[in-house]
Amino acid sequence: MSSIYKSGAFAQQCFSAHRETLFFRKIGPPAEVIMDCSSCEMEHRLSVLQFSSTLPQAIENAFEHLTNCITGHSSSLRVSAMDVVRDHVGARCTQCNRSFDLEIGAIETLR
Ligand SMILES: [Zn+2]
Ligand SMILES: [Zn+2]
Repeated sequence: MSSIYKSGAFAQQCFSAHRETLFFRKIGPPAEVIMDCSSCEMEHRLSVLQFSSTLPQAIENAFEHLTNCITGHSSSLRVSAMDVVRDHVGARCTQCNRSFDLEIGAIETLR
């Protein structure tokens, strides 16, 4: 049986300890982003309030673009920032050369 923890602490810990094994796996309706950590075999579910992307230049459809990255080439997408106190997660796609900012409403961790 898996347990659910309604806290961002586990995601923060994964990012701090082994961000190289933390990947975006799924983006799904309407604004949920799922990350996997292969080091601790935990799944982090982010409820996202707002998607934005301003680098290298601002775009309107950050959600659609990030969806394409996650479904098309998720191995190029890295977690670049994680600050659960400020409800912020950053993502960087090396294939598109684009950075994303996610404003987080809630994080749940399943293990
Ligand atoms: Zn981990
Ligand atoms: Zn991309």
